[in-house]
Amino acid sequence: MTLSLIRSAYDKVAAGSALSAAEATRLIRVQGPDVMDLMAAANRIRHQFVGDEIHLCSIVNTKAGGCTEDCAYCAQASRYAAPIQNHGLLEPHEVARAADEAVAHGARAFGVVAAWRGLKEGEVLDAVCAQIATLAARGDVNADASLGLIDSPAVARRLKEAGLVCYNHNLETAPSYFPAICSTHTFEQRLATLRHCRAAGIRICSGGIVGMGETPEQRVELALALREVAPDMVPLNFLNPQQGTPLGEHPTLAPMEILATIACFRLCLPDRNLMIAGGREVGLRSLQPLMFLAGANGTMTGNYLTTTGAPPAQDQAMIADLGRVVAEREVAVG
Ligand code: SF4
Repeated sequence: MTLSLIRSAYDKVAAGSALSAAEATRLIRVQGPDVMDLMAAANRIRHQFVGDEIHLCSIVNTKAGGCTEDCAYCAQASRYAAPIQNHGLLEPHEVARAADEAVAHGARAFGVVAAWRGLKEGEVLDAVCAQIATLAARGDVNADASLGLIDSPAVARRLKEAGLVCYNHNLETAPSYFPAICSTHTFEQRLATLRHCRAAGIRICSGGIVGMGETPEQRVELALALREVAPDMVPLNFLNPQQGTPLGEHPTLAPMEILATIACFRLCLPDRNLMIAGGREVGLRSLQPLMFLAGANGTMTGNYLTTTGAPPAQDQAMIADLGRVVAEREVAVG
């Protein structure tokens, strides 16, 4: 029964049709030995739609901690007593040094990330635009950023003029679950941020975090919301509970559940770059290489915002062992 469900989902997606919410929900609930069949279907769809290269990106936290928002998973929210080191905006040479390391580790996209509610016109925007311009001038890496909410077309245009290629702003979770995760801004404000960026000609990177207490149906709801947004890059994070945050004691998902989720997202988003980001080390543990056999075609390499990632050399070896190669260029999809 489950095999025929997976087979018919595969045939439908391979032929260019979209899965319904009901179909995707049946798939994301697949368990036991059937997970391998689901992964195989997603892996074939990945090969058909986005090819075999693996996309690597890296980030630097240009401003850490002290955020006014209350995202329940985030160690950088000032209202939670998470043991992290706060710092103000990095100097341009510090960003450049982090970019050097990222490029040496194979990343072709490098994101400047800041912990705050969002960006408005003013000195801070000037400073991050200078960082982006410095990155853009290098020519060996895409200058990307993740700088929170943007509520005006003018701010998005400034970022574009500075040389920004891609803006990350995650939907985080399903629209129906968002209020349980954040009360200081809305899902609609997140969508508006993406609209401003797209209107300015900036590529979109948008995904979410799975494993925050949402139901399987809500995971599918997130996948279908992302399908509407159609980002170039979809970063899929898995909750890595951070001490001091409201989700600090939340259990992590089982590795096989994570793999089924990745496969389902691939089948819902066949032609998007699906990148596994935060939480892969603690969530997948010894099964990490299988993320690339479950439909993912990218990952973050190096450290995350407040947690340490796998050594980049280990990521490179994993990719080589799978017989895959790292993408040499980041180009727009679809
Ligand atoms: S996720 Fe971003 S907006 Fe939310 S608390 Fe953390 S830094 Fe602030």
